[in-house]
Amino acid sequence: MEDAGDRRGAQSSRPADRANPGHRRQDAGAASRGGPGPFFLRFDSAEIADSSDGEPLGYLLENRHVRAALAAAIGEAGIPVLAPAKVAKAEFTSREAVVTLDDGRVLIAPVAVGAEGRGSVIRAAAKIGALGWDYPQTGVVATVRMERPHEGVAHEYFLPGGPFAILPLTDNRASLVWTESRQRGAALKAARPEVFQAHLDRRFGDFLGQVRVEGPVFTYPLSLQLAERFVAPRAALLGDAAHGIHPIAGQGLNLGLKGAAALAEVLTDAARLGEDIGSEVVLERYAAWRRLDTVSISLAADAFVRLFSNDNPALRLARGLGMAAVNRIGPARRFFMQEAGGAMGDLPRLLRGEAL
Ligand SMILES: Cc1cc2nc3c(=O)[nH]c(=O)nc-3n(C[C@H](O)[C@H](O)[C@H](O)COP(=O)(O)OP(=O)(O)OC[C@H]3O[C@@H](n4cnc5c(N)ncnc54)[C@H](O)[C@@H]3O)c2cc1C
Repeated sequence: MEDAGDRRGAQSSRPADRANPGHRRQDAGAASRGGPGPFFLRFDSAEIADSSDGEPLGYLLENRHVRAALAAAIGEAGIPVLAPAKVAKAEFTSREAVVTLDDGRVLIAPVAVGAEGRGSVIRAAAKIGALGWDYPQTGVVATVRMERPHEGVAHEYFLPGGPFAILPLTDNRASLVWTESRQRGAALKAARPEVFQAHLDRRFGDFLGQVRVEGPVFTYPLSLQLAERFVAPRAALLGDAAHGIHPIAGQGLNLGLKGAAALAEVLTDAARLGEDIGSEVVLERYAAWRRLDTVSISLAADAFVRLFSNDNPALRLARGLGMAAVNRIGPARRFFMQEAGGAMGDLPRLLRGEAL
């Protein structure tokens, strides 16, 4: 990972730093057409207590740096890694989880943690169902370089096709999370670079000067998928295997990290007490800890998508008034800022910076 001054990447909390507050605006055809719209939210890190020492509201981390740091830490800790390998099947007895890899190797443990994303083999093998629905939207993700300094400000615009987020990175780059209808998303993915650039210029506007795409463009169909339970005998689900949510609030990975820290804490404490770490009574502590926060954030993101991704005049008025109210009410604004930083609720020790 890069140093603190540079830790701004494509993850985590959208609002940015104290001198340069983040904005959420609605209803501009291009993100920056004209000045601020009649309704916009302004988040300033100086308003929340944790930021009184000059800390920004949150950091945007590029996932590649997170992955590299985790791989290095796993290596240093001497944790065996079996890769490349895929889980082919899993079975659960009353005493153990038996996981078979696609190369034939068999792993036996008191508990198997399914963290293999939305198509989790462990979830299916543990007979845990999933609830959810597709959004008629595609997330288009690209990195851009701007002509003018972004000054660490994150912007999120609510356009009829869905949110358009500009998330500041190092070297005056930004990660775009651009939500469009499925049809437009497919067209953007297939577009020649100059056509994509023309659409981007129209959406982005010129408030940061010329904007150039750097590297590949990725597209993701967007959906909500919540596991009916987070645990089953000898199995626990983590990350998107347990909860895949809309990226409107940039909370998917944050939720997964909270879950990982909570599960590590529950299992470590249970092992210290000599308990069976795969028993239902132990695993249920993890599920109970994470259930409410996860379901609340998933449904809040869903409600935001429904409220903001359309052009219904009544909803436009309602959300405009809602944003104006949040802007005027300090505690409401501070709540949103802290929630965006993922630092709310009963945080596991690892997320409070304490050792297990
Ligand atoms: C457009 C978009 C923007 C987003 N922006 C943000 C953001 O700003 N902030 C944020 O916090 N979150 C964001 N998210 C959400 C975030 O990307 C996910 O929540 C996060 O990637 C989930 O991590 P995961 O490791 O649980 O699952 P995944 O990222 O899906 O990883 C699962 C891993 O398991 C592996 N795997 C799959 N099957 C098997 C198998 N059978 N055996 C072994 N391994 C297997 C896969 O290869 C993969 O490496 C965004 C998502 C989208 C789509």
